[in-house]
Amino acid sequence: MIRGKISRILLSESDIEAKVKELGAQITQDYKDKDLLCICLLKGSMLFLSDLIRRIDMPLQVDVMRASSYGESTVSSGSVKILQDLDADISGKHVLMIEDIVDTGRTLAKTLDLLRFRQPQSLKICALLDKPSRREVPIPIDYRGFEIENHFVVGYGLDFDEYYRNLPYVGILEL
Ligand code: 5GP
Repeated sequence: MIRGKISRILLSESDIEAKVKELGAQITQDYKDKDLLCICLLKGSMLFLSDLIRRIDMPLQVDVMRASSYGESTVSSGSVKILQDLDADISGKHVLMIEDIVDTGRTLAKTLDLLRFRQPQSLKICALLDKPSRREVPIPIDYRGFEIENHFVVGYGLDFDEYYRNLPYVGILEL
């Protein structure tokens, strides 16, 4: 059963669309003539990935991986497990990690460690949402969409107990 309600729309569909367009243009400029591999962590980032890559105007490759999520909780348990690895060999590639939201930074830090070990030529991060007040592990975000306050948000790929991912906007969830 779906729980909670949206108490406020934080980012509208058009706010997101404009930002995705801006990020895509910047990434296109920075990576032109490079062999780019865009990767994301399922499932929260899949909408952002699919919109963003259509705004990157150059040939690129896409791959996905899956790490353990919060499940029915709104706080990170602190432990992160890789549940599904990439198909691609990333050594020597320019890798762009596309993230829905950086909260404590634990999931991303752990994933980045793993990816760095495989020696990509470069490894950068593009995050749609950044909650800096919650950070526990420093994360260098190269492309940032929006900085947000400490709210639990859903929509545009982000879930609560697998619901709400299909909302076209990002809203604050009230339980
Ligand atoms: P972190 O490891 O940075 O604490 O959290 C990473 C993951 O937790 C994100 O990729 C996202 O899936 C989930 N997460 C963090 N904050 C939120 C939030 O406000 N809403 C939702 N739905 N998921 C979040």
